Amino acid sequence: MIYLKTKEEVELLRENNLLVSATLAEVGKHIRAGVTTLELDRIAEEFIRSHGAVPGFLGYGGFPNTLCISVNEQVVHGIPSDYVLKDGDIVSVDCGTVMKGFYGDSAYTFAVGAIDPAVQKLLDVTKEALYKGVAQAKAGNRIGDISAAVQEHAESNGFSVVRELVGHGLGRKMHEEPEVPNYGARGRGPLLREGMVICIEPMINLGAKQVVFERDGWTVRTRDRKPSAHFEFAVAIGKEGADVLTDFKVIEEAIKN
Ligand code: MG
Ligand code: MG
Repeated sequence: MIYLKTKEEVELLRENNLLVSATLAEVGKHIRAGVTTLELDRIAEEFIRSHGAVPGFLGYGGFPNTLCISVNEQVVHGIPSDYVLKDGDIVSVDCGTVMKGFYGDSAYTFAVGAIDPAVQKLLDVTKEALYKGVAQAKAGNRIGDISAAVQEHAESNGFSVVRELVGHGLGRKMHEEPEVPNYGARGRGPLLREGMVICIEPMINLGAKQVVFERDGWTVRTRDRKPSAHFEFAVAIGKEGADVLTDFKVIEEAIKN
């Protein structure tokens, strides 16, 4: 079932997602060639705990860390490790928190140093696809309106949409109904109602859409090993439009120059 949130509950979800945004900003400041993904994970865990929250992913389904860090051809659910970031990498950082009974969940893909222009375009288009989806996230529309907007933007730019993983409702649980696919048809799927809170999270591949699941039980990567990008917002559905609970501005301020 789909839980509709009260205004007070939306504010608790906002608090969580702003903390996730601040955590991603803090992590972003430390992303450079020479740093390991495990170091980034420790920075995030300390930051989240020092702000009175608990990491939302740590122990979730047995996940071993605070962040999901997915580099280059890794799509999502990468496990932080002693991998040393190098110039030209892209790093998707997905972060969750739990505080006051509610979850936060947002993701941002960062560039390490100078990256290939085609990969920069992948990052730009994936983020734009997220914004196109958010523009459809209003009461009276359907999930399919979000899905189609994301898919059209990605595919019209020559990229492909991952099918195996989708966005979701967010609340007292990290994954609630409804599912929010990044592909689909306008006018289809569950009706969007005021008080729904959902995560819209396009996972877009530079090459083909197929993915494989690594033997570590978590990491998802592209089958053709071409790069993949991932951006995620938590949004509350309002009458007039989406109330975005995640703040990319703090992240983009933090990584400027
Ligand atoms: Mg996430
Ligand atoms: Mg999510």
